Amino acid sequence: MKELEKTYNPADIEDRLYQKWLDGKYFHAEVNRSKKPFTIVMPPPNITGQLHMGHALDNTMQDILIRYKRMQGYEALWQPGTDHAAIATEVKVIDKLKKEGVDKVDLGRDGFLKECWKWRDEYGTRIVNQLHKLGSSADWDRERFTMDHGCSDAVLEVFVKLYEKGYIYKGSRIINWCPVCQTSISDAEVEHVEQNGFFWHINYPVVGEPGRFVEIATTRPETMLGDTAVAVNPEDERYQDIVGKMLKLPLTDREIPVIADPYVDKEFGTGCVKITPAHDPNDFEVGKRHNLEEIIILNDDATVNVPGPYFGMDRYEARKAIVADLEAQGLLVKVVPHSHNVGTHDRCKTTVEPMVKQQWFVKMEEMAKPAIEALRTAALPLFRRALERHISTGWKVSATGVSPDSCGGDTGYLPITVRNAEKSWFPRKLPTPALSAAALH
Ligand SMILES: [Zn+2]
Repeated sequence: MKELEKTYNPADIEDRLYQKWLDGKYFHAEVNRSKKPFTIVMPPPNITGQLHMGHALDNTMQDILIRYKRMQGYEALWQPGTDHAAIATEVKVIDKLKKEGVDKVDLGRDGFLKECWKWRDEYGTRIVNQLHKLGSSADWDRERFTMDHGCSDAVLEVFVKLYEKGYIYKGSRIINWCPVCQTSISDAEVEHVEQNGFFWHINYPVVGEPGRFVEIATTRPETMLGDTAVAVNPEDERYQDIVGKMLKLPLTDREIPVIADPYVDKEFGTGCVKITPAHDPNDFEVGKRHNLEEIIILNDDATVNVPGPYFGMDRYEARKAIVADLEAQGLLVKVVPHSHNVGTHDRCKTTVEPMVKQQWFVKMEEMAKPAIEALRTAALPLFRRALERHISTGWKVSATGVSPDSCGGDTGYLPITVRNAEKSWFPRKLPTPALSAAALH
């Protein structure tokens, strides 16, 4: 008689059993009108590396549920797949290439895409093998990858449909720009990190009144090259008489107006705020209200594009040079240490630059209404609290609908996470040139 092993050895049993299940196609589902359907779409794991404990838990729960339904007689489909993860994967592939001494730019877009597919073949397969090891009873005959033709076609189909319905449009709005990855990133990808910085207090001379200045304070002095106004609160008595006057913008040959806008907090700093519409989300909204010019002062790699002594400098080099020049001209009042939250790109840790750019956007107001309504009427009792928390932190609910906080106003628009095709290479390309061209008009 064969003796039973003292300890359970999964390697002897599980792979053999799992293979038997696969060979028998026990997890395969078909459209079967005589049975009730039950389907779970596996949240596709990103192909950025390997599965972790969270995936193990999550997939085990789905597995339990789908097996239970299968035993109850449902035609049960657990649809498996993996996700391209766009920029996250791009960053990983760039890192891998760097270690091999290769720059993505030298490869060109096509060469880089080939590297991404190699990555997908290696890590996509590893992830699927891990799911097999878990014993997942997914229908592997139906396995998909989000960059497959079928999935890509579906994305384009929805994109074009939403465009035709007017929900998707191309427009110039302020977005989060990563100068290293050279792509726009969504609010969810911006990590706010506390950093020690400074408030540089700078005097802007009042035109025609020698010896009179308006003092502003800024954490990003280089952005003054793009200032198009200084704002004060309309109820701030200290500044009533200078609203409408012009200021000489230091280090430039431009004059900018003093405007009154309730956005300015009287109690904060000097009560005078420099307005840089093209490089700050709040200033962008102020600029729209007052018809201010939007001057983009940086190239995509965060070097200065304004003609003059700072042209071509990196943003931090320009910061140093500008502070030194202000000091030399006697316009630097003081420098106060100040720790503040700085938006950084969660994948590469680069400080994000808010910039006005032409991008694709989704109009959220109407589409978000049913979700908001479901929340209000408690139609989603299970997730109600989680949703409320999400809305209270990331979204504003107003009389007109919802809007992202990122733009600081009730804009009602959300940038599309499909990246701008010409900069980020791995995510899918946007639709036809004809559509892009049409959207520009
Ligand atoms: Zn980045």
